[in-house]
Amino acid sequence: MNKIIYLDAAASALKPEAVIEAEVDFLRNKYANAGRGICARAATVDEMVAAARAAVAEFMGAHAAQIVFTAGATDGLNRAARMAGAGRGIRVAVSDLDHHSARMPMVASGAGILTIGLDENHDYDLSCVPECDIIVITAMSNVFGRPQNVAAVVAAAREKNPNVIAVVDAAQYAAHMRMDAAAWDADFVCFSAHKIGGDTGLGIMYVKEPLRWAPDKFGGGMVNKITNKEWIFNDAPERFEAGTLPLTQIAGLRPALDAWRPDAGAGVMRAMYDALAKNPRIKIYTTPGASVLTFSVDGMHALDFGALCGARGLCLRVGNMCATWAMRLINAPAGGVARLSAGAWNTADDAAAAADIINGIVK
Ligand code: PLP
Repeated sequence: MNKIIYLDAAASALKPEAVIEAEVDFLRNKYANAGRGICARAATVDEMVAAARAAVAEFMGAHAAQIVFTAGATDGLNRAARMAGAGRGIRVAVSDLDHHSARMPMVASGAGILTIGLDENHDYDLSCVPECDIIVITAMSNVFGRPQNVAAVVAAAREKNPNVIAVVDAAQYAAHMRMDAAAWDADFVCFSAHKIGGDTGLGIMYVKEPLRWAPDKFGGGMVNKITNKEWIFNDAPERFEAGTLPLTQIAGLRPALDAWRPDAGAGVMRAMYDALAKNPRIKIYTTPGASVLTFSVDGMHALDFGALCGARGLCLRVGNMCATWAMRLINAPAGGVARLSAGAWNTADDAAAAADIINGIVK
């Protein structure tokens, strides 16, 4: 059996040992629900949730009251679209950098869709930001892996409409770059724990002005008092967290943040780029310093290529990357593209072995 070389960090990161240990310890020794009890165990879980929230706030330059736990980036982006009031008669600016999770909630709402222009590097062109009511900004595309100047895009949109609501998809950015929510000045920033070394089923939605928005989900834990006529919501962020939180995943969040490194995998990516760039049958769509290496193979369907890699122990992503608009932008082959992405667990040997496997298949 081949050794597995996991180079699909952009789909989901492997977990640091400390994350696994924290989750097992929670399940085995500390388990109870949060926000619902006053026994010692429940109080400890409340403290754990508060500490995780504070750690995320620090991680992204925010206050704890601005950090809402969600089920993931997709959940957060859908909720942000609802809370921001996307719908008929609302102008929403999107771009070809967007993942389906960022753009589809806006399209599905029936809003009028406008497009933000990109430059020749597939970065936002600040002179092509249309006047709109809501702007969706992909801080780092999962196809191109280049960090975008979010603050500048928000500022360009506000110049046209000071009341524009900015929704940022930071799913990839959060894995590679230090975020500064206050400097970005966006209204919503969403990402998933699983891409930064935490677990699946947990996401973070930063909300700049939590008391400005009405909760979009209703249930236990988000309401203070219910009379016959009205209810009084809890303070932020709990008012946005109806129902039981994904506590096991939250137990792993702080260790994931502690282990997070902005340049994890960068050397491995560079080595693979240099090795594949020499192969004349490989067309690379990304730049050397990008967080992902996206490419297609001349004369080979992406799924066949992916299967051949998989059979040799190399795990990479193939297909449309849930980014149909980026696929059209680069004129990708019908089956889509292949994508390599490294994390902290990858070594120089992984880079060399991956290049050997790929160059062995693509002769
Ligand atoms: N946005 C981008 C840029 C992504 O790469 C992804 C996942 O690949 C998502 C959003 C959706 O993240 P999740 O599936 O964790 O909700």
